[in-house]
Amino acid sequence: MAAVLLALLNLLLLHLRPACLASPPNFVLIFADDLGFGDLGCYGHPSSLTPNLDRLASGGLRLTDFYCTSPVCSPSRASLLTGRYQTRSGIYPGVLYPGSVGGLPLNETTIAEMLKTVGYATAAVGKWHLGFGPNGTYLPTNQGFDKYLGVPYSHDMGPCRNLTCFPPDVKCFGYCDIGRVTVPLMQNEFIKQQPVDFLDLERAYSDFASDFITKATTKKQPFFLYYPSHHTHYPQYAGPGAAGRSLRGPFGDALLEFDTTVGNLLATLERTGVINNTLVFFTADNGPELMRMSRGGNSGPLKCGKGTTYEGGMREPAIAYWPGTIRPGVTHELASTLDILPTIARLAGTQLPQVQLDGVDMTEILLHHGKSKREAMMFYPTDPSEKYSLFALRLGKYKAHFYTRGATHSGTTPDKDCQVFAVLKAHDPPLIFDLEADPSENYPLSLVDRPDLQALVHKILMVKAQFEATMVFGESQTGKGTDPKLEPCCTPQCSPKPSCCQC
Ligand code: MG
Repeated sequence: MAAVLLALLNLLLLHLRPACLASPPNFVLIFADDLGFGDLGCYGHPSSLTPNLDRLASGGLRLTDFYCTSPVCSPSRASLLTGRYQTRSGIYPGVLYPGSVGGLPLNETTIAEMLKTVGYATAAVGKWHLGFGPNGTYLPTNQGFDKYLGVPYSHDMGPCRNLTCFPPDVKCFGYCDIGRVTVPLMQNEFIKQQPVDFLDLERAYSDFASDFITKATTKKQPFFLYYPSHHTHYPQYAGPGAAGRSLRGPFGDALLEFDTTVGNLLATLERTGVINNTLVFFTADNGPELMRMSRGGNSGPLKCGKGTTYEGGMREPAIAYWPGTIRPGVTHELASTLDILPTIARLAGTQLPQVQLDGVDMTEILLHHGKSKREAMMFYPTDPSEKYSLFALRLGKYKAHFYTRGATHSGTTPDKDCQVFAVLKAHDPPLIFDLEADPSENYPLSLVDRPDLQALVHKILMVKAQFEATMVFGESQTGKGTDPKLEPCCTPQCSPKPSCCQC
């Protein structure tokens, strides 16, 4: 009996805030788009201008072995907000579109919904990309966020004509989606502007975020701000404060504009006196879109980029910043976007959602530079299926590829493995890399005369089988298809669509 009571007490304590935290902390979660491992100044890029992110890195904890769960946008966002692989919530294959019928199922519990149960103010600002749906069913305000300002999907999912760069007479490089409504700016469930004014968008986001933080702190209410940026997804744009001001061209300017907003957020946290009671966490949704060449991101020393299950597709820069609570430094511990929900739950003292979670609490890593509870990281392709299951698995410092494939998104690199012509290839036994000695995945280890590595492969296959036994694929949401009538239009009855949707 005493043992049972002790076990129950331990369970309860697990969900209590660490003793060093006097009051519930605030959370600011910053999520860049299509940003590579090598894109920031603090991750070694020679010509990027990212003074504010570099400041976070020098004053906070920089993670070198941090992964998102998908090499494309929507699934990665689903995992971030639910702490579950995208296969469980059904955000596969590919991504959601403006007229998608499906979206992140409302019975999934997001970080925002979890924090609402303990009285947090919540807001999302920026790119949602987890569904719009009939009557805006899947918008952030139906997923735990009190407020939302932003574009509900990628900003190239509309005609390019409202996507000119600065100065306004310069056309963007490349093409956007034609035959769709122009890109809207939503305020909660309503269209505030269509087409959105991209050159003024970052200022609007920054003002919205500052206003949200100021109001919450005035009311002494703990808050959660989720800022998924459009930057640095294609096509690049930047308003007058950043255009032409970096050494790196349009990509560098877009990155600088994003970095400036990060600086504004920090200034607001300082001005409102909550900087020492706020965890700021920064990372990105997937690797760089290398097919955009110099207007896409850079995966640094990592192999390939967006669309692939090589390191460049899913290993991301990540920084945790919390002055006075997180000691500055660098950690090589294994961690993931999946771990953010359980970590926030622990720090806020909330119960975890009663579902199969894939994330683990990383408080020990953040607060004490301690060890990771994460044993392995799973790599699903852009089109996960029960037939092929995992494309790769990382266990400790080793990564095993069961399948490899290139991607259109990662075309144009000299490495032929990244290109779309690199068709699906099965590896049995799996290709094994030592990511500490060879982070670029250039030199697969030979298993011949290596009983230690053969034992490792055996263990990897066991971990894979154990994980797969827990995996229940949710109904595919992207598989429900699209309906042009569901595309957001500020004058719903107008004709002819989509060109008449302008306000
Ligand atoms: Mg993305």
